[in-house]
Amino acid sequence: MAAKANKKMTGAVDLPECPVCLETMSAPIFQCQSGHSLCNQCTSNLVPPMCPICRQHMTQMRNWQLEDIIAKAKVACPNKSVGCVYTMPSTDVNDHLKECIFRDMECPLGSVSGKCSWSGKLKDIMDHFQERHQKNCNVSSDTPVNLDNIELKEDERFLYLVAQQKMLFIITVKLDTLQKMAFWIVQHIGSKSVARQHIYEIHLTSNLDERRKLVFCDHCFNDAIKADEVFRQGKCAVVPFEALKHFIKDKKITFKFFIKRLPVANKKKVDNGKDAKPNDNKQNPAPKGPGPKKGPKDATGPPKPGPGGKPKQNKANA
Ligand SMILES: [Zn+2]
Ligand SMILES: [Zn+2]
Ligand SMILES: [Zn+2]
Ligand SMILES: [Zn+2]
Repeated sequence: MAAKANKKMTGAVDLPECPVCLETMSAPIFQCQSGHSLCNQCTSNLVPPMCPICRQHMTQMRNWQLEDIIAKAKVACPNKSVGCVYTMPSTDVNDHLKECIFRDMECPLGSVSGKCSWSGKLKDIMDHFQERHQKNCNVSSDTPVNLDNIELKEDERFLYLVAQQKMLFIITVKLDTLQKMAFWIVQHIGSKSVARQHIYEIHLTSNLDERRKLVFCDHCFNDAIKADEVFRQGKCAVVPFEALKHFIKDKKITFKFFIKRLPVANKKKVDNGKDAKPNDNKQNPAPKGPGPKKGPKDATGPPKPGPGGKPKQNKANA
């Protein structure tokens, strides 16, 4: 058993299955009086609590060794059959599935407008946008994006899908009339670590006076976190309506975006040390001219006493 266990540490394996439901075992694992192990679900389903294999009583005794092996063993992504080669400790599977690029995903516009019920694979999502949401994907880096009919009187949300170097990013803009704030965020569809290798810049240019500019720069989040959660934390470009007013002409807001991959040296730092001060990767926002400045350091707190400040911050950052 020990030798087998060691082997299991080295690569992806099929973990032991529960002899009753044939699902992969996971903690807690209970044993019968003669030592058979069953999963938690099957154990609690047994009426009377007799082992289905030997008819002895089930006990509250846990199979700690097996639980431990399972916790440490690397397993293949459940989306292996559709192409994911990722292996991970079994305890990380759920987190990985949220960002696995082979997962089934829903159209990001579905949750915005409620009008699209498409779901499918990441590789097909751009085609879907080209087909159904063309104006939401015909944007590119360093090219002005116009938001039209802006009156700042009702909440609005804009979403764009951007392909860059075979990677996909989502830009979300939210105009929040309650808080009187506008938010911009760029998220990478994929893993947290790849997201962290990218920074984005939002360049807002006034349509009243083109010398008035606002530049914001920050690292990308991935799409496992909801844009609204990032907005709530203020870890994104935040512009008060009071300032935004001076950028709007003929009900139009114009901005440009840039998505850049960090230099390799930085990349390593980010990869190795999860807590290696991700904020240090933001560089040169250098906002010039009048306009209210919005450096990345300013972004830590939105000027509002967030409702029920949940301690989610770390999770988003880790
Ligand atoms: Zn079972
Ligand atoms: Zn038994
Ligand atoms: Zn995967
Ligand atoms: Zn759609």
